[in-house]
Amino acid sequence: MIDLHSHTHESDGTCSPPQLISEAVAAGVRVLGITDHDTFRGFDQAAPSARQAGIELVCGIELSTKLHAQSVHLLGYFLNEDNGLEDFRNWILDMQASRRDRNVRLVARLRELGFDITLEEAEARGRGMTGRPHFAQLMVEKGYVSSLQQAFDEYLDETAKGYVYRREPQFAEGVERIRNAGGIASLAHPVRVRGDIPSLLPELCGAGMNAIEAYHSDHTPRDTAEYLGLAQRHGLLVTGGSDFHGAVKPGVSLGTGCRGNLNIPPDLVDRLRAARAR
Ligand code: AMP
Ligand code: FE
Ligand code: FE
Ligand code: ZN
Repeated sequence: MIDLHSHTHESDGTCSPPQLISEAVAAGVRVLGITDHDTFRGFDQAAPSARQAGIELVCGIELSTKLHAQSVHLLGYFLNEDNGLEDFRNWILDMQASRRDRNVRLVARLRELGFDITLEEAEARGRGMTGRPHFAQLMVEKGYVSSLQQAFDEYLDETAKGYVYRREPQFAEGVERIRNAGGIASLAHPVRVRGDIPSLLPELCGAGMNAIEAYHSDHTPRDTAEYLGLAQRHGLLVTGGSDFHGAVKPGVSLGTGCRGNLNIPPDLVDRLRAARAR
């Protein structure tokens, strides 16, 4: 089985990188993409365990980018196998800095709203990649809200009252950086993008985006069929994965998604590799 979208505790997942490899082995996943938000630390730490377990590891990343004032997730793949990588890895450090800057302002905003939350507490949960999910966890632990979703809906979502701005690269810049590093740039979980994907695609393809995540645990079979059709029409490669986060998203399993809704074809990674070799 193949799963090209997963997170470790180096971003907002709950498994350590070696644990994620054990989970992959247990789930029968043979090719695993680690796509932590804005960091390669999970991938780097998983590599030795993966080699030992005979798992083929694909080096990925998930970037948050701005597209028409909306935050859109962009996946990058094969970012360990080519030239230009040092530039890319340096650029990622900027993302981490902008996240830290946002977190400082987010703490101030949440305190203004009456919550006793400190940056140290959030960072203890989020390590180098502290993000809104970690703030949501804290708010649940402290009894301010009853669920992670409530924390987002009322305070942390882009439209909610605790939201503070984060500097994010434009979608087109993210694509360009990934492509310049020899990677494949894929639109993550298109079902979550607000707006009409068919009408957005010419612009996204024009920016150099060369793949779309047709298979995802949030997609219905109809969604997947639609995105496969769009991929064909626009000459895009196809990627797919569960978006496994471990215990914070208990309904999502590696390789199979939500109750088996993920059916990634076995030749998916071969096609990606073949396209890169051309
Ligand atoms: P950050 O990168 O810190 O801005 O946090 C983004 C992450 O928060 C996303 O990858 C999602 O996992 C989560 N997230 C963002 N918005 C929501 C929402 N409305 N409901 C649940 N989770 C969300
Ligand atoms: Fe996430
Ligand atoms: Fe995402
Ligand atoms: Zn993800």
